[in-house]
Amino acid sequence: MSDMVDTEPDAGEGPVSRLAAELKSSRPSVGPLVATDLTSAVTLLGLPGVTRAALTDARDAAYRLLESAVRQIPVPLRAQARVYFGWTEASAKLAKGQRLKLLGKMAAIAPDTWRTEREPRLLDELARQIVLVDARTEGLARATGKRHPLDSHLNVPWLAMGQLYSRSESAALALDRTLRRALEARRGMVIKGTYEDVVASSLYWFAVANVLDENRHRDFGGDWILIDQQAEVLLMQNWYELTFRLSPFSQRQVSHLRILLRACPDWELEPFVTSLKGDPLLDLWEDWIDACACQNDDLPLAGCRVHELFEAAQIISDAIRGHWRFLIDWTVSNADTNTDWSSPPWNSS
Ligand SMILES: [Zn+2]
Repeated sequence: MSDMVDTEPDAGEGPVSRLAAELKSSRPSVGPLVATDLTSAVTLLGLPGVTRAALTDARDAAYRLLESAVRQIPVPLRAQARVYFGWTEASAKLAKGQRLKLLGKMAAIAPDTWRTEREPRLLDELARQIVLVDARTEGLARATGKRHPLDSHLNVPWLAMGQLYSRSESAALALDRTLRRALEARRGMVIKGTYEDVVASSLYWFAVANVLDENRHRDFGGDWILIDQQAEVLLMQNWYELTFRLSPFSQRQVSHLRILLRACPDWELEPFVTSLKGDPLLDLWEDWIDACACQNDDLPLAGCRVHELFEAAQIISDAIRGHWRFLIDWTVSNADTNTDWSSPPWNSS
């Protein structure tokens, strides 16, 4: 599978250039690319992963594909793609001309230049990412039962592993949400609770994510348990980003936070926040949040660590949800068979 997933789509006469040509001919004219346009474009090319997805979930498949592909577009073109498709709060309300103006402003070029130079580049890049995402979707499907049973790290109690993964994903998302609320409070929006409350809560979720991360390593030897090796590497990298690299803390300080949390009955929020009173790590965390000078969550400033953390949380959530969606599909499709429920599907073929 890796040979297929790792292959860069070609720039010549392959599916990328054909899809790019198709997208340019439907020419979304600076507006939301209609899902049906996209579906017909990729179906026309017979991209296997997408076609399969469209068969089971026609309504969402195209949007999901588009979202995944846009997420892979390198910055700063990614931010422009979001505006182009009208996915940001501001751009959703704009008329075509205004949207083009905004895009020109973002790229620091004239709107017409954006139209003649950036739009084709964006559609080329989009086509490239769509084909990559498609190869990945297909790779996931093919991975069923293909992993070698001697990959002994897969011999884990997978229900327990699933629960731990689910809790880890929730912690990553809760960290994301509490930080967003802290930023909203700083921008003067009304939130539930005080700014200090939400800052402390976000540090709590940071500690939870770290304890769960360590538990996964302790109990399962890390993140080597997904069905797709590339997904595993992506997940591992983004856990590292979220639980350590982007934060203001040293390893010893992170360890201190884990100890504080583990000392709390049932890892409860209240005793954790109480035990943080007067702790310099709380000030360090608040300063870290305060360093975000972004005015708009959709257009973060380059190098903002808080916003980079949102991105990592999103990738983690996507990877884990995608994995479980696959498992659920497998479970449903095997519901009437004599399936061995004690081991994961890729071990049972
Ligand atoms: Zn920021």
